[in-house]
Amino acid sequence: MKKIIISMGVLSTLFFGNFYNIAHASSYGINKNGSNEVNVYSARKGYLLKPLIEAFKNDTGIKVNIISGKSKALQKRIEQEGVNTRADVLLTVDAGNLYKAKKMNLLQPIDSDKLKILIPPHLKDIDNQWFGLSIRSRVIMYNPKKVNESELSTYEDLANSKWKGRICIRSSNNIYNQSLLASLISHLGEKEAKVWAKKIVNNFSKKPKGNDRTQMTSVVLGECDITLVNTYYLGKWITSKKESERKYAKQISVFFPNQSNRGAHINISGAGVTKYSKNKNNAIRFIEYLADEKAQELYAHANHEYPIRNTVSVSDVVQSWGYPFKQDALSLNELGKNNIKAVKIFDEVNWQ
Ligand code: FE
Repeated sequence: MKKIIISMGVLSTLFFGNFYNIAHASSYGINKNGSNEVNVYSARKGYLLKPLIEAFKNDTGIKVNIISGKSKALQKRIEQEGVNTRADVLLTVDAGNLYKAKKMNLLQPIDSDKLKILIPPHLKDIDNQWFGLSIRSRVIMYNPKKVNESELSTYEDLANSKWKGRICIRSSNNIYNQSLLASLISHLGEKEAKVWAKKIVNNFSKKPKGNDRTQMTSVVLGECDITLVNTYYLGKWITSKKESERKYAKQISVFFPNQSNRGAHINISGAGVTKYSKNKNNAIRFIEYLADEKAQELYAHANHEYPIRNTVSVSDVVQSWGYPFKQDALSLNELGKNNIKAVKIFDEVNWQ
């Protein structure tokens, strides 16, 4: 019965998609204050959003105002501004951050048929308070002169003593690592995840320092053989204006772990409508727009990320690493739920 309902939903979108948009257009539009705009507090870089904002304005007539900042600072600001906030949308990276925003009571649930259809369930909040809009994977990058691809397999295997003194990775206060460990807590259990983290620390080639790009540089310079970093950083290097970065990029290879079982760990950038949004309809419309076909392609290409549906194309650079690859289908709600446990484990195993 459930299956029939879902396929009817999909069918009606296929046949009545245009009518749906027209019907909704009349219920959106100009808000109570008479302004046709939406205010986005964004932890994402301006250049990523610019083409999307322009396309959105052209297609809908709604102006997007961006206030940029770091994720934590923006969340704090929305909290402090309370009912008077200008923010309609919080746009940020990592399900861990979005989960925190929800816990801080900064967001509100959104009932949108379009978002229900466009965003796979594991990429959004169980209460519809935040929605994934692009995917990144945290993968193994290695020096092909030092490592043979056949030696690589899973995240779990990196705990093997054959990697002693060969792994570099950024510090544990970074949300990307916290979310990766949170996923391992879900898959392996807390005890096993802790054993894993301890063994990884034993395999460090040096103390964690710097960001993902610092680790990639270390791989190139021979300071370590493998690292775990987000895919798009290599995309940035490959297409960089700086010759030095393009040169470095050629000396790094990508490996997607756990392809024979659950798939590689993924995370998202995403958004939610703020609790005290004054332009709620426009805010919903903006998020729906970002999740839809046209914006998905622009958005994923701009930062060499992955779209939220594999029917949308990826950039040539991303394609060259192999796409589609098997992605971990774990609900990203788990990353938020296990965050505190992950931080505690990192502390206990002395992963700085
Ligand atoms: Fe990043």
